[in-house]
Amino acid sequence: MTFAVTGRPLRLHPMVVGYEPIAESISVLGGDPARFLLEPVTVAAVVYADGWVLLDTGFNVEIVRDPARRGHHFNYDSYTAVVPPGDPLADQLGALGLPWSSLRGCAISHTHVDHTGGLRHVPAGVPVVFQRAEYEYAAALTPAEAFARTVVQSDFLRTGLAIELLDGDTELAPGLTALDTSGHTPGHQSFAVELPTRTIVLACDAADLRIQIVDAIACGTTMRPSDAPAAEAAARRLRDLDRVAGTEVWPGHDPDWSYTVREGEDHGH
Ligand SMILES: [Zn+2]
Repeated sequence: MTFAVTGRPLRLHPMVVGYEPIAESISVLGGDPARFLLEPVTVAAVVYADGWVLLDTGFNVEIVRDPARRGHHFNYDSYTAVVPPGDPLADQLGALGLPWSSLRGCAISHTHVDHTGGLRHVPAGVPVVFQRAEYEYAAALTPAEAFARTVVQSDFLRTGLAIELLDGDTELAPGLTALDTSGHTPGHQSFAVELPTRTIVLACDAADLRIQIVDAIACGTTMRPSDAPAAEAAARRLRDLDRVAGTEVWPGHDPDWSYTVREGEDHGH
């Protein structure tokens, strides 16, 4: 078991930690390139009796707030990071009473800039897991290639991070499993969280919008063009999981989805 927690997941706390304007065609295969959505950037904390686990981490707020570094990393014509005041990740975790000192592990869905930025908060020695195919691909990019792929390598190449690399589906902790949904990026992963009353699968960017899960529609872009068939297979996998009784698959970036529902609260869709 990768993360040092015991028992079963008690609660899931999904959080919105920023926003980003995205053309529908980037999110959804066959989407409208002229229709821009302001998509939430989501992360989740999984709480156990003896610690908690962070799934994805949002933007690097230090870079977003530094004009020179922001210009270097976020200088795109039609894309920018939108971050609420403060540090949305650290502030919400603080409000939940989840201190970094009891973080037992962090898992990153993929290396895009809206998922790796909060790694700067992860204490030394806490395991941080990526799929091997993802990490090795992203780490080997040149700076120009990384910029073109919206990857900020300094987020995850920082010394002190206890990186562990996975090869496909892996149980990370009791009731928490990484699922291979590569395609969007070479080693994208989703996460299944077995809560007391239901299982939530966080699709992350294998399905930005809920409709992609219902209808098995692939993401609009893949980091490598050759991964388009894998992205379609990932969408089918998520659709099939969503059809399992007691399992819900949540999209990664859907403006119309409620990310405020926690285990124990009434929920329907
Ligand atoms: Zn992405």
